[in-house]
Amino acid sequence: MAQKTQAIVAREPSAPGPNWTLEDVEVGPPARGQILVRMVASGICHTDIVLTSVPEGVLDIHYPKIVGHEGSGIVEAVGDGVTSVQPGDPVLLSFDSCRACAECTTAHSAYCDEFPVRNYGGSQQSWTIDKEKAWGSFFGQSSFSRLSVVSEASVVNAKDLIKSDDELKLFAPLGCGLQTGAGAITNIADAGANDVVLVLGLGAVGLAAIMTSKIRKCKTIIAVDRTDSRLQLAKTVGATATLNTTQEGFDLNQVIRKIAPAGASVVIETTGVPFLIEAALTGTARRGKFIMIGVTPLDFDVKMNGIAMINVRLPAIFSRSLQAVH
Ligand SMILES: [Zn+2]
Ligand SMILES: [Zn+2]
Repeated sequence: MAQKTQAIVAREPSAPGPNWTLEDVEVGPPARGQILVRMVASGICHTDIVLTSVPEGVLDIHYPKIVGHEGSGIVEAVGDGVTSVQPGDPVLLSFDSCRACAECTTAHSAYCDEFPVRNYGGSQQSWTIDKEKAWGSFFGQSSFSRLSVVSEASVVNAKDLIKSDDELKLFAPLGCGLQTGAGAITNIADAGANDVVLVLGLGAVGLAAIMTSKIRKCKTIIAVDRTDSRLQLAKTVGATATLNTTQEGFDLNQVIRKIAPAGASVVIETTGVPFLIEAALTGTARRGKFIMIGVTPLDFDVKMNGIAMINVRLPAIFSRSLQAVH
């Protein structure tokens, strides 16, 4: 039976900022392979904002839409076939995947064949607003709905991981931002003691990349942002140098070369800001890895100097950033 709840709803595309409203909605019971979760917390990721700015029909996006993909909560009920959780279990939520394609069955579910349709698009199966169908199941979870029907593939059972309700709230951003920054350093860059890591943008992703670089004992960790308080925070979690892009005459490549003459061996780009991306490409060392995570404007084409870029590695994550890391 459908239950009344509330959700933050995007009625239509909105840019540059979101135009979301808190609305009364109804959510249906969990179907086979689904779990009914009462959210206790959700992070907000830039992807929530970007994917409610694209026109109707682009990237499988339709409106009205309920987003949110860094949820944590308590299981209320489970559908048929669910084996990983029981009612009452605390859960942390991440992206959805089919669990059957070649990528999913070789432990690369972030590259699932069905990633865009399952995660950006979601489905109309479970939510209604004033009897009209709404698009939910965003990233398998639509965590901006207080009560949500969640895909079992999106769920991590946290009953043996967390010690309190406050921890369950605190760990909600593990589902996207924190694991993305940490995974970029460990899985994609495989950074180590000899690396010079440059992190552009100090949100959850960038700060997680800095913390993980410190754990990996990287010799130089350069943090770049436009906000002094974030740069200060970056220092406390592992940055060895900080750069403020708003300084007059700021030239990223020049400053990088002063700190590390050979350039950065690992670049973690989380801003999506075109001029920073182009400058950081130039500041990347020979055999360096440029890992692009930030979502650029839809019409942004990268300009790069082909000669200067010889021997710089651009992993697949570069061209498939949305699929790869969000
Ligand atoms: Zn798959
Ligand atoms: Zn995200």
